[in-house]
Amino acid sequence: MTYNAVRTQPRGGGADAPSGQLGHDGARVRLEGMSKTYGSGLVAVHALRGLNLQIDAGQFVVVLGPSGSGKTTLMNIVGGIESPTEGRLLVGDRDLAGLDDEALTTYRREDVGFVFQFFNLVPTLTAVENVALVAELVGKREDDARAALDAVGLRDRVDHFASALSGGEQQRVAIARALVKSPEILLCDEPTGSLDADVGRSVLGIIHELARTGGRTVLLATHNSVIATMADRVLRLRSGEVVGDVLQPNPARPEEVTW
Ligand code: ADP
Ligand code: MG
Repeated sequence: MTYNAVRTQPRGGGADAPSGQLGHDGARVRLEGMSKTYGSGLVAVHALRGLNLQIDAGQFVVVLGPSGSGKTTLMNIVGGIESPTEGRLLVGDRDLAGLDDEALTTYRREDVGFVFQFFNLVPTLTAVENVALVAELVGKREDDARAALDAVGLRDRVDHFASALSGGEQQRVAIARALVKSPEILLCDEPTGSLDADVGRSVLGIIHELARTGGRTVLLATHNSVIATMADRVLRLRSGEVVGDVLQPNPARPEEVTW
């Protein structure tokens, strides 16, 4: 399955899928004076230092920085997995600091999709079962899981065990698993970090398309500056600070990038 083949898939995963089930209007994200410190005193690590940012709905943002610059910490905070030490994080009209545990769990479960470097699939479940696990959490059905797999070009792999899929296919299942929730925000942390360049490019093509056509807010963390050429906006992180913030009106297409 190529990137081009994926591009021609109808939105929503097929003519028989309920319309708009995979689409979502992205949420605007705002960080105000946001810091994260791990530990304290002499051993304190300042992972993020006073970030002020606004990310518009529908933007495809690459967070670029070397290892240890704070990328994962930023993704985890926006995803509600960790909380900031200082400052505020607003997603849409919600202040995440103001949410109680239950509301935060709902946010994490329903509004955010995560894609990680190491796919994290259950190897003894099939592709569709892996996606359905998450679909059920948010009150969706196996049909929705199939539609999500369709949207990432895996129609003919749905009943294969995860352990029998290639790395690129496993990452597509992981994207479908994130997508089936129709998240407002898609957070991808080094999603091509364990894939070959060719396979990585096709995975990026899918993520790129989800940002474009789905109107989702996508944050993609990477240390690879070539990947950043595809973004609408590149945020450079260094030692927990934003050292660059550039809009790219004509981002490269995935098939144009190589590394
Ligand atoms: P990146 O994803 O860019 O590699 P991270 O966000 O993982 O960066 O890490 C930023 C800094 O925070 C690093 O110095 C890292 O060692 C530190 N760090 C991350 N998580 C923890 C943690 N749970 N406890 C202590 N230090 C941490
Ligand atoms: Mg990281």
